[in-house]
This record gives sequence, structure tokens and C-alpha cells, in this order.
Amino acid sequence: MAFIVGEDGRSRLVDPYGRGISYLRVSVTDRCDFRCHYCMSEDMTFLPKKDVLSLEELDRLCSAFVRLGTRKIRLTGGEPLVRKGVMTLIGSLARHLGSGLDELTLTTNGSQLAKHADDLARAGIRRINVSLDTLDAEKFRRITRWGEIAPVLAGIDAALEAGLAVKLNTVAVKDFNEGEIDAILRFAHARGMDLTLIETMPLGEIGGDRVDQYLPLSRVRTDLETRFTLADIDHRSGGPARYVRVEETGGRLGFITPMTHNFCESCNRVRLTCTGTLYMCLGQNDAADLRKVLRESDGDEAIDRAIEAAIDRKPKGHDFVIERSGAGPSILRHMSTTGG
Ligand code: SAM
Ligand code: SF4
Repeated sequence: MAFIVGEDGRSRLVDPYGRGISYLRVSVTDRCDFRCHYCMSEDMTFLPKKDVLSLEELDRLCSAFVRLGTRKIRLTGGEPLVRKGVMTLIGSLARHLGSGLDELTLTTNGSQLAKHADDLARAGIRRINVSLDTLDAEKFRRITRWGEIAPVLAGIDAALEAGLAVKLNTVAVKDFNEGEIDAILRFAHARGMDLTLIETMPLGEIGGDRVDQYLPLSRVRTDLETRFTLADIDHRSGGPARYVRVEETGGRLGFITPMTHNFCESCNRVRLTCTGTLYMCLGQNDAADLRKVLRESDGDEAIDRAIEAAIDRKPKGHDFVIERSGAGPSILRHMSTTGG
């Protein structure tokens, strides 16, 4: 039984392991203006447009989730802000805020943020995540394969000025930004931003060896503790990050450690791709084709039942491993497909 109405009168989706599923991440496009080394290969093939849901179809599916008790929607990608008309989608989804939906947010690489920050704030978005793996312009170009850092930094400034709470996401990459974590931490905390560090996950063929990139956050934390005082705190941002307070800066630092610490037992989320495929777990291949149901049915009933049936199949957890032998991806789809 995936759908229940709780004591508070609010509906909820509950999976077979008793976890309330209240968080939907939506990849609104698989396209991106960057090609980060850990995420995509340089010659990525993107989906044909006909396979991608229209903005209206995305809205219909997201609204079905809200009807079934989703409290938080995160738009991601690919790069969500390169999807044409994304601000229309955001404006439309914002109608659910306060009537079912508690939060609408997005994760962006920041390249287009400067021009959208005010509109995002006006639409009712309160917090966003911006990905930034280095503060050095040349290294930024290297990790993104051709990205420019200046527009990203301008985007962060614009978002802060617009009153958005910004959290930086930094993927810890071996021999790339190990020595720069202090600087990124100070940069974030000086501007009142939280910082979350992420371990690289083995998703999708990237034209390189993942063992070369993988840097366990346990090592990063031990290293940081030689210079900073890190105190565990209970703060939760609705995601899998575990937070500490950095006494020297007064800011919060999160660790997302899918590889060294499995967080599946408290998983509250599912992921919708831009083709309407629902993945019940980032690290498993089982999925539900909601586009087919959406395109073959007029009413909402069939969509609701398809979502409930999918939640009934949510697996207990992922089986990520980064093995030295071969070091290919353990899941063939890219992070840009399921949106991280
Ligand atoms: N383009 C947007 C961005 O970069 O923020 C949103 C999509 S991106 C796929 C979402 C997040 O996933 C980013 O913070 C990115 O750094 C992270 N990411 C991508 N590939 C990853 C991987 N293989 N392992 C861990 N994190 C990854
Ligand atoms: Fe694009 Fe984000 Fe993937 Fe980088 S991490 S290639 S910005 S989708």
C-alpha cells in the first residue's frame, strides 16, 4: 500500500520499507553547457527532443506527485537553467507552494544564474544549490572541460543579492581539489553559504577511470580536522548530507558519502528523468515509464496508480562499488539523466 493519509490529514507515499517518500527530484533536461569530467564524457549524445517531456507534461507529472504527498521538488538536470521555458515551469509549479508543496528548489551549475536569480526569488524559490568544484578559473575550465568561472561567481552573487539561500556543492576529486577545500570552505562561509562535499559516484560512462577520481570524504574530513574544529550537528537539509559546524568560520559543512557511508535507510526520495522515467533509487536500474501512462491517459487516475505501483517497488538500497578492476560505471546512466 503506497498511498496513505496520515494523522495530520496530509497524504503520503510510503514504500515497502516504511519510508515516507516526500521528495521528488526532476531532471528537466539531460543537456548541459558544461561537461564535468566526473559526470559526462566530452562527446555525450543527448536525447532526441521528441523523447523529452514537454513543460506541460513535466508539470502534470510533478503535480501528480504533489497530489500524492510530495512536499519537496528539486529541479535539476543536466543544467536546468538551459532548458527553454524552465522559468514558466517553475512559475507554474510554484502554485503548489503552501498547498501541499513545502519547497520548490533547484540545483544548478550557476552559468545562467545571474539572469534568472531575481525571477527565481519572485517565483517563491527560497534556497538553491550551486555546484562549484574549484575557485581557480583555469582549473574550472579543466574540470568542466570548457566552462568559465566568472559567470558562475556572478550568478552566486546575484542569487545572494536576490535573497536566495545558496548552498555550494563541491564534488571531492582526487588530485584535483583536495588542496582547495579550505579555500572553498572559507569562500562559502564568508558569504553565509553552507558547503556540502560529495563523493564521486560511479554513474555513466565518462571516458575515464573512476578510481582516478574517487576521494573518500573520510580522508578529507580527517585532513580538515587538523586545521578546523568540526562539531557534529543535527541540521538536516532534507537530503542525505550529514552536517558539522566549523567553529573557526561559524558555517555549516555537509558530507554526502554514498560510497563510504550508506544512507539508504533514511531515503525519502525518487527521481524523475526528462523522459518521464521514474527511478526509485539512484543506484539501481529498476524504473517506471510514466511517460507512456501520461501520453496514453486523459485523466489523473492512471498516473496516480502508476506512481503508487512504482513506489511499491522502491528497493532497500543501492550497491555502488568502485572497483579497481576495470573501474567502469556500476550504473550505466549518467548523473545528468537522473539529476544527482
Ligand atoms: N548541472 C547542475 C549542477 O551541476 O549543479 C545540476 C545537475 S548535476 C548532475 C547535480 C550534482 O551532481 C552536481 O552537484 C554535480 O557535481 C553532481 N555530480 C554529477 N556527477 C556526479 C558523480 N558521478 N558523482 C557525484 N556527484 C556527481
Ligand atoms: Fe553539467 Fe552538472 Fe553534469 Fe557538470 S555536473 S556536466 S554542470 S550536469
